Amino acid sequence: MSHTLLAFHAHPDDEALLTSGTMARAAAEGHRVIVVVATDGALGLASREYAADGALATRRLDELRRSAQALGVVRVEHLGYADSGLGPEVEPDPPGSTRFVRADTEEAAMRLAAILREERVDVLLSYDANGGYGHPDHKKVHEVGARAAALAGTPRLLEATVPRDTITRAIDLVAKVYRFPPEFDRASFDRAFSARRDITHRISVRRHIAAKRASMRAHASQASADSGADRTLAAFLRIPRPLYDLVFGREWFIDPALPRGGRIRRDVFEGLS
Ligand SMILES: [Zn+2]
Repeated sequence: MSHTLLAFHAHPDDEALLTSGTMARAAAEGHRVIVVVATDGALGLASREYAADGALATRRLDELRRSAQALGVVRVEHLGYADSGLGPEVEPDPPGSTRFVRADTEEAAMRLAAILREERVDVLLSYDANGGYGHPDHKKVHEVGARAAALAGTPRLLEATVPRDTITRAIDLVAKVYRFPPEFDRASFDRAFSARRDITHRISVRRHIAAKRASMRAHASQASADSGADRTLAAFLRIPRPLYDLVFGREWFIDPALPRGGRIRRDVFEGLS
């Protein structure tokens, strides 16, 4: 039985870290896989080399297409919003588009729901309530994803997350081979993502590690950034292979329709007709 999976992300490159293994696995197992980004990622931190010509948005959507190709994704869409950035204040809207945090949730959900209906999507991948590490655009993905699934009657909503204790353990391992920038705040991860008991799905993607690494490598502009969360991508790619496979060989989701603390599911399509 073939199903359709849609991964909804805030920025080009978020799919690489959070859901690329699950996407590659679904595609390899014969399912239709789609990726939708809310924003163009134009405010992503990138080195001057990449940001100088003002074409970062175009470049990042190209990178997303390359990542999609590596994962076997057949359709890539941008919902049309602008990156809200991580600054203390949200910048004014660029000409012709709205920064995602300012977008009307209902209107954004209707845009996504239109694709969910058109594609008869069985499983929508979105974000946990913390929006992972808390980027405002990621929190907005959580809200918009949940509303869109309700509007479209999508059978299953799975919210991508990572068990908090796994993150802090991974950071400590990475710290042995990589010096984090001084502004890197390990403690901030104590409040990010989700508690282990809330997780309902743990998906093994070990057989799809090559595709996952290719997806991460496709986002060259983000590996170039000078500070903050986004440079994490570059650090992760430097982890020695056996360790990388251990850390990135699984992906985690919360099905908000399931009770907490129950059986862990190992297949995102389990039980779907
Ligand atoms: Zn992001």
